Amino acid sequence: MKLYEEPAPIKDKASPFESMMSHFNIAAEVLGLDEETYNVLKSPTRQVIVNVPVTMDDGKVRVFEGFRVIHSNILGPSKGGIRYAPDVFLDEVKALAAWMTWKCAVVDIPYGGAKGGIVCNPRTMSSGEIERLTRAYTASLVDIFGPDRDIPAPDMGTGPHEMAWVMDEYSKRKGSTEHAVVTGKPLVLGGSLGRVEATGRGVMVSAMAAMDKLGMNPVTATAAVQGFGNVGAWAAKLMAERGVKILGLSDVSGAYWNDNGINIDEAIAYRDAHGGRLKGYQNAEEIDSEDLLTSKVDVLVPAAVEDVITSRNADNIQAKLIVEGANGPTSYRADKIINDKGIMVVPDILANAGGVTVSYFEWVQNRMGFKWTLERVNQRAERIMKESYERVYAASEKYNVSMRIAAYIVAIDKVAMTYKYRGGF
Ligand code: GLU
Repeated sequence: MKLYEEPAPIKDKASPFESMMSHFNIAAEVLGLDEETYNVLKSPTRQVIVNVPVTMDDGKVRVFEGFRVIHSNILGPSKGGIRYAPDVFLDEVKALAAWMTWKCAVVDIPYGGAKGGIVCNPRTMSSGEIERLTRAYTASLVDIFGPDRDIPAPDMGTGPHEMAWVMDEYSKRKGSTEHAVVTGKPLVLGGSLGRVEATGRGVMVSAMAAMDKLGMNPVTATAAVQGFGNVGAWAAKLMAERGVKILGLSDVSGAYWNDNGINIDEAIAYRDAHGGRLKGYQNAEEIDSEDLLTSKVDVLVPAAVEDVITSRNADNIQAKLIVEGANGPTSYRADKIINDKGIMVVPDILANAGGVTVSYFEWVQNRMGFKWTLERVNQRAERIMKESYERVYAASEKYNVSMRIAAYIVAIDKVAMTYKYRGGF
């Protein structure tokens, strides 16, 4: 009997954490960050690796590796999603956790940053297997999570149902109902109205704010959206509602193009009826996925994974505005090329912060035991996104830096000030 599997090939991806640090370093220097705070912020506060055994449907027990990284909890309880993906790795989770610290600081909500991940392929697992995995992961982190300690949420590969299992498992182990331990829950379990679409809505609000600065009229503008999951689909739908013509869309199954614009509601309905993928979508022509990023559009929205805009394709990007729905879609080297080309980038830690903002509202509602209307959620989230955009824009003018570096400056400044007052080292 073979007791082991062949080791996976070593990943050739650049280190996402290093990539994050490259931006952080520039901003820290512009800001004149002191060495002590720099050293504290460059390493995550806590990194937990768990191995959780799960009984699969065939009766065999499989052991899954999982992570939870808390980058910082100086601004408040740490906050961040849990990613289920076959290729998720610790360095990536570290970067994603740090991005959460900066994201929460940019939009000025009282949270630190964290991220979780489990190496698994949810598309090949049954609902029962995913439930047992989610419960086992939660059980192993029951002393890390907590409404005042560390609050998970959905990320790639997870959604409201996984969050319901996190909430239930945690509550059972604590002996009391703890709604506020996790956000992105189903509505009946204390989820917030507007949370599902919140990230995509924030992307749309950021895009509109940037278009306004660039003097671009949404009604005559065109866009391409990479990624048609929760973030990409909602961003596309809400931008289209504002008049933007979405010429191109893509997901892992391929890229689709229509010169007359794609009907987003129809594409969403198609995706939902076809196993969550656009594969075979008829009302558009299939194009090469790489070509989508360099297509002739005004606005490009990368809303899938990290490192898709790289030094290989950055030079060919034709869009005048990039709004980052995904976390870390632009590599450090590509960022330089894009800035030199004069393309405006609304960076991830600002553009996709609408999700965690409404997560914060969900947590507030849970703690008040009171539900807000959708209008209140959307209005407040929109206000926060717009104010944050203006704050970052003002910093970019003041320091004469890109919007990305400006966003880091705003975030690091808040964290550094908090350290100054809290002290303790
Ligand atoms: N996973 C989402 C993000 O990357 C949401 C995190 C949250 O709501 O806590 O921003």
